[in-house]
Amino acid sequence: MPDDSPSQPDEKTLRSLVERVPAIFYTAELGEHGRWRFVSHQIEKILGFTPEEWMADPTLWARQVHPDDREHALSFEDESYLHATSSVPAEYRMLARDGRVVWILEDAKLERDADGVPVWHGVMYDITERKRIEQDFERVADQQAIIAGLGERALQGQDPRALMSAAVEALIQGAGVEHACIWKREPDGDFTLRAASFPLDQGAAPPAGATSHVAHVVGARAPETVHDWFTESRFELPHALAEFGVRSTVAAPIETSSGRVGALEVHSAQAGRFTVQDVHFLQAVANVLATALERRSAEEALRHRAAHDPLTGLPNRELFVEGLEQRLSRAQTTGAAVAVLFLDVDNFKLINDGLGHHVGDELLRKLADRLSSHLRAGDVVARFGGDEFAIVLDNVGGAAEAAEIAQRLGNEVARPIAAGGIENFVTVSIGIALARPAVDDGVTAETLIRDADAAMYGAKTRGRDTYELYDVSLSGTAARQMEIQRGLRYAAARGELELVYQPTLAVSDGRVDGFEALVRWRHPTWGVLAPAEFIPVAEQTGVIDTVGRWVLEAAAKEAAQWPNDELSVSVNVAARQITHGDLHTTVLDVLERTGLDPGRLELEITEGVLLERSQPVADTLDRLAASGVRVFLDDFGTGYSALAYLDRFRLAGLKIDRSFVERLDSGDERRVAIVEAIIAMARALGLEVVAEGVSNHAQLEILRALGCHRVQGFLLSQPLPATHITGAADELTLA
Ligand code: C2E
Ligand code: MG
Ligand code: MG
Repeated sequence: MPDDSPSQPDEKTLRSLVERVPAIFYTAELGEHGRWRFVSHQIEKILGFTPEEWMADPTLWARQVHPDDREHALSFEDESYLHATSSVPAEYRMLARDGRVVWILEDAKLERDADGVPVWHGVMYDITERKRIEQDFERVADQQAIIAGLGERALQGQDPRALMSAAVEALIQGAGVEHACIWKREPDGDFTLRAASFPLDQGAAPPAGATSHVAHVVGARAPETVHDWFTESRFELPHALAEFGVRSTVAAPIETSSGRVGALEVHSAQAGRFTVQDVHFLQAVANVLATALERRSAEEALRHRAAHDPLTGLPNRELFVEGLEQRLSRAQTTGAAVAVLFLDVDNFKLINDGLGHHVGDELLRKLADRLSSHLRAGDVVARFGGDEFAIVLDNVGGAAEAAEIAQRLGNEVARPIAAGGIENFVTVSIGIALARPAVDDGVTAETLIRDADAAMYGAKTRGRDTYELYDVSLSGTAARQMEIQRGLRYAAARGELELVYQPTLAVSDGRVDGFEALVRWRHPTWGVLAPAEFIPVAEQTGVIDTVGRWVLEAAAKEAAQWPNDELSVSVNVAARQITHGDLHTTVLDVLERTGLDPGRLELEITEGVLLERSQPVADTLDRLAASGVRVFLDDFGTGYSALAYLDRFRLAGLKIDRSFVERLDSGDERRVAIVEAIIAMARALGLEVVAEGVSNHAQLEILRALGCHRVQGFLLSQPLPATHITGAADELTLA
């Protein structure tokens, strides 16, 4: 039984008790080099020195204090602490005998001894473990903040390169190390540095190969630490890092849903520097980066899809316009010329219909490749849809150079293209528009494209497989063309346009059944101009919209006044009016305003219109037919229209071109056979046949024998002024 009376333990018992406490008890005289009077045995366990060693050398304590904490620790060696009412706590680091850093919490009281000497009585606790936990905790909090910050930047859609630099910075800060870098996996399996805390000497540093640490980590899809490169036997330190005296490294893979894209690495000059927490941190940063890259590539794919043509992968119209605008604004300052080439495949519809859409698609793809590969850097080729391509020639020397390039592209295209298992021969019609934004006013991407488009139509009209320049200043009659373009804009308003009418006669009863309206321009200085002189310019410049509208309205108004309300009136419609405008609405509007019966209106369109942009044209024709307006194919035979596909369009009939009619009486039986075939097939398709340009009786008789429905030509009548219509309608006969 223990004695219940309080009794003082003897000194020996006390000492043995003290030695069991995991702390250093001591008494030491004040001062940096104050003599140590007593120190408990624990000092050996905590700092590696025996009490004897410690007490033998009064300078030892001050020497073993961590240099960074020296000032703080020594600040307590002051007599003023004699007056402190309680013990004085202090925290500082000491270096153990073996160099380990030991965190000390000291709790001591300064008192004078019997001789008046100030002496510290204290306890030193080893709080290294607690400090480590505290620091770890702080580091985790810091790292978490860093990851959150990085994640936020990633979410803001920051450019990947900037994000990678930010990640490197974050790694250094978060892991508290000197070096970090990001490796990218190349298609060949090697790894190259993408971002680093040290200057990247691209090209000089060889990539990390398949046996490298990064490659291992990426292959294993898990982070991995090299604790000491001095003893590392599995991997070799990458060349790029050798000069930094790197001792330990952690790497973590960057993996997106589309694959393993690379790895992050942090490096320390200290061996065994990295903790499990550091590995987690690194992996977290890698994951943030992976998410950012993934988002980015998804966005890019989306943007690419929105700006490119899915069939050929070429930029689409929007992207093209954007690029063109950039080049135009640059040319504002440089003074350079920019050209737009508008390409349209000739008779593409025949290929599509004849060989199938998949062959057509294959052809377009190959064409796109061919065009792309024959352009200069800085030039852009785009697909506008269907068989239309556009090219911007940046910094072109002039119209002649643009024409030369167009010619070269035309030749390139004309080489056989394998598609659908056969060699195909295609040609393109190219329209060129050129501008020097620095000197030409009002040039925009859209006007340039529109002009090139118009010029392309010109090339089609000239027989395809050719190019045409919109730049009117190049042609010999530049001034006149400009004048026509300018004058034509106001010709209708100034009353300079007029119509003449050329009758058609029905073969069945020999009587006039209608009149074709043909436009004339009574120019104030040049006199009367034939349509051939100004209609092409009107088409190119878009003035045809005004002119065409005037013709339609004037002809309808006139016809509505004719006493014989069975006579039809026929109006020629330019390609552009159908492909670029809303012809149906215009026609309905005119019919309503003039009161003309739709059944009396005939429109004449040319074959080219059916081949180019055929679907919208077919729709327009359907609507016109539904309104009761009859549409004829003019100049039949000069284009490429195969009768076989005419039934796809709602046509009322066709007008056999003058050139066929002219040769009917030449004695060449083949000529007759062709016209015979045309008429027979047209009849079979339920189309009405009109022969134009009938200029002698022999032609008329042959046409009559072949079953032609209607005839027109100088033999019967020249185009007549409006005042002569009633007379002609009553008196003219075939007999
Ligand atoms: P088209 O529609 O084929 O018109 C027939 C053209 O042939 C007319 O020439 C007419 O005068 C001419 N012609 C008629 N019979 C004979 C003949 O027996 N022998 C010869 N050698 N020629 C004959 P025009 O009036 O000079 O018109 C030329 C072309 O201009 C027209 O060809 C038509 O395509 C176009 N055109 C005329 N007026 C307009 C219009 O208002 N709008 C549009 N877009 N084009 C028009
Ligand atoms: Mg005509
Ligand atoms: Mg004609």
